[in-house]
Amino acid sequence: MEEKNKIEVYINEQIKEEQIKTPMLDYATNDDGYMEYITRIFEQPIQIGEVLLDFIQRDLKENSYMIFRFYGFQTLLSKEERNNLLATDINNSDNMKRKMEQLYVKYMGEFKDYKKQIIDIIEFCLFDENTKMKDLKPLERLVVFTSTKDIKKYTILKYNNFKQSIRLNKDMSRMKEEQIINTLQDKENNRYGIQEIYEIDNFYNLLFLELYFILQERTYLKKCKNCGKYFLTTNSAVIYCNNVYEANKTCREIGASKVFSKNLEKDEAYGLYRKVYKKKQALAKSKGGSFEIEYNMFKYKGKDKKNAYKLKEITKKEFMDWLKKQ
Ligand SMILES: [Zn+2]
Repeated sequence: MEEKNKIEVYINEQIKEEQIKTPMLDYATNDDGYMEYITRIFEQPIQIGEVLLDFIQRDLKENSYMIFRFYGFQTLLSKEERNNLLATDINNSDNMKRKMEQLYVKYMGEFKDYKKQIIDIIEFCLFDENTKMKDLKPLERLVVFTSTKDIKKYTILKYNNFKQSIRLNKDMSRMKEEQIINTLQDKENNRYGIQEIYEIDNFYNLLFLELYFILQERTYLKKCKNCGKYFLTTNSAVIYCNNVYEANKTCREIGASKVFSKNLEKDEAYGLYRKVYKKKQALAKSKGGSFEIEYNMFKYKGKDKKNAYKLKEITKKEFMDWLKKQ
């Protein structure tokens, strides 16, 4: 059984990703051939800020099991509480559900309070339209916030305690020199590069850390101009989210279709887009095979880039450079 009960956060600045390495609740077959609950390390990469976004936006009751599994919520539990969960008979999912609900009831008040605190801080530091603050960066706004509000109520700000180190996100102790050099040079797979690593022993520290990254603008937390929900993006120019809003259309597609496009016909970037599109379509028709796959990929990716261009998320040059590479 995984005894270590702490969270490690690996920050990959290049691709704006983080890996949360935390013991998660899972199940496996034991030596006697029976299924049982175990803990293992979860390390699937996610976007920087995703734990905080889920925490403030999702239904926590519905997601308590997921948060418990993947996000290190179990660091809040006592050893007895963890063991109690792990001792659950896997064939009795009702029993597990009941245990999770009991835990949820125990933490509900605290979670609701933290959720409110985080939203207050985010609204003040990122979305407050007070003109006096318009030139202040989010972290500078936090200084205004902490100097003018009743700070005793914002207990989340106390969880700013973690051990930071810089090291590789891969054990290279058994590698030969050439292998190490090749691994580091593999830019496609820079998940193994040198990263900032935070050691955390409490779920609330993780929430604070992500809040700090958001206020530092290492990632952008935005409010969608169509549906009003918070979302994360690595491009500060993005104003619509990628969630499906209606009839299979995402907020971003809806937003792009609203952009006045009378002059687009005369636009050289749009002209190039149509040229590339037609060429790929013709090749797919006459030759099929890989050309058809390429055409289908372009249909999807090209439309996304075209939307980004229409919404001014990327410049004309960026759009045209991308088209020339297709
Ligand atoms: Zn939206």
